[in-house]
Amino acid sequence: SVKQEGRNGWAVYHTAMAQKTAEAPLFLQDLSQALSRNQFELWYQPQYTAPGHTLCGFEALLRWRHPQHGILLPGVFLPLLEKTGLIISVGHWVIDAACRQLHHWNNQGFTQLKLAINLSPTQFEQHDIYDLIADSLARYHIDPAQLTLEVTENTALKNIDRSVQLLNRFSQLGITVAIDDFGTGYSNMLMLKKLPATELKIDKSFVKDIRDNSRNVKIVSTIIDIAHSMNMHVVAEGIETQEQHALLTHLGCSYMQGFLFARPLPVEKISALLHQKTFALSLECSESSQKK
Ligand code: C2E
Ligand code: MG
Ligand code: MG
Ligand code: MG
Repeated sequence: SVKQEGRNGWAVYHTAMAQKTAEAPLFLQDLSQALSRNQFELWYQPQYTAPGHTLCGFEALLRWRHPQHGILLPGVFLPLLEKTGLIISVGHWVIDAACRQLHHWNNQGFTQLKLAINLSPTQFEQHDIYDLIADSLARYHIDPAQLTLEVTENTALKNIDRSVQLLNRFSQLGITVAIDDFGTGYSNMLMLKKLPATELKIDKSFVKDIRDNSRNVKIVSTIIDIAHSMNMHVVAEGIETQEQHALLTHLGCSYMQGFLFARPLPVEKISALLHQKTFALSLECSESSQKK
C-alpha cells in the first residue's frame, strides 16, 4: 500500500505521510532546518525556441537534498513551506541563488540566457517582494531582461488590482512576467487581458493529452491564438514526445520545455550543456532517425 502508481508516486506517498500526525512534526522539523543546513538546491530545466531548438534559458526548480531521503521534489514539501510561511525565507534564498547563478553564467560569457523563477502565492503577497527581486538583480549586476517571473493565474487573479500594479512594476523594470500552468486555474481570459504578462505557459496537462485528442488540440490552439492576439509568447511545458513537439510547433508555440529535451538538471550538468553547443542537435538526430 506504500507504493503509489505514477511518476509522482513518491511525492504523493510522502505528502500523505507528512500529513499523518506521527510523521508531520519530524518532517516539519527537518524542513524548518533545511535552509540553515544548506540542503536546498536549484536545478535547471532548459527551454528551447520552437522551431530551431536554440537553447534560450532555464527554469529554476527547487530541490531539497534530504539527508535520509535524497533529492525531494517540491510536491513533497512546497505545500508545507506555504502553509508554515517558511516559503518566505526559502523563496528569498531562491531569488538570491538564481541571480547569483545567472551572474556566474554571465561572467562565463553566456549573457544571452534567460532564467525563470517561480513565485508562490505567499511570496507574491509579500509586501517587499518587488524590492527583494530588484535588490538581487542589482547586487549581481543582472539585466532585468534576463529574468522571468512565473506566477499562476490563480496567484495573479487573487487580488487583481494589486497584481496589475505589482506586475506592472516588474515589467517596467524589464522583467518578463509569465503566467504559469495556464488552463488549470480560473482561466478567465478577460482578467488575463488586464495583466501585464508577456508570456503564457500552457500547463503540461494539456500537452499530455494532446495526442489523438482533437478537442484538446482545439483548446490549445485557441489558447495560443488568444495569447498571440494579446502579444504574448507561448511556452509549452511538459513536452515528452515527438508528436507533442511537432503538433505544438505547428500550432505556433514559441518556446518548449520538457523531458523530450531535458529534465531539470543540477548546476554542474548545466555547465557542460552550455559548453556543448550541439546539445539541441540530439533532438534533430532522433527526429531524422525516427523518420527512417
Ligand atoms: P512548474 O513551475 O509548473 O514547473 C514545471 C514542473 O514540470 C517541474 O516540476 C518540472 O520538473 C516538470 N516537468 C517539466 N517537464 C516535464 C515533462 O516533460 N513531463 C513531466 N511529467 N513533468 C515535467 P517540479 O520541479 O516537481 O516542480 C513542481 C512545481 O513546484 C513547479 O511547477 C512550481 O509550481 C513549484 N516550484 C518549483 N520550484 C519552485 C521555487 O523555487 N519556488 C516556488 N515558489 N515554487 C517552485
Ligand atoms: Mg513554473
Ligand atoms: Mg508550470
Ligand atoms: Mg506546476
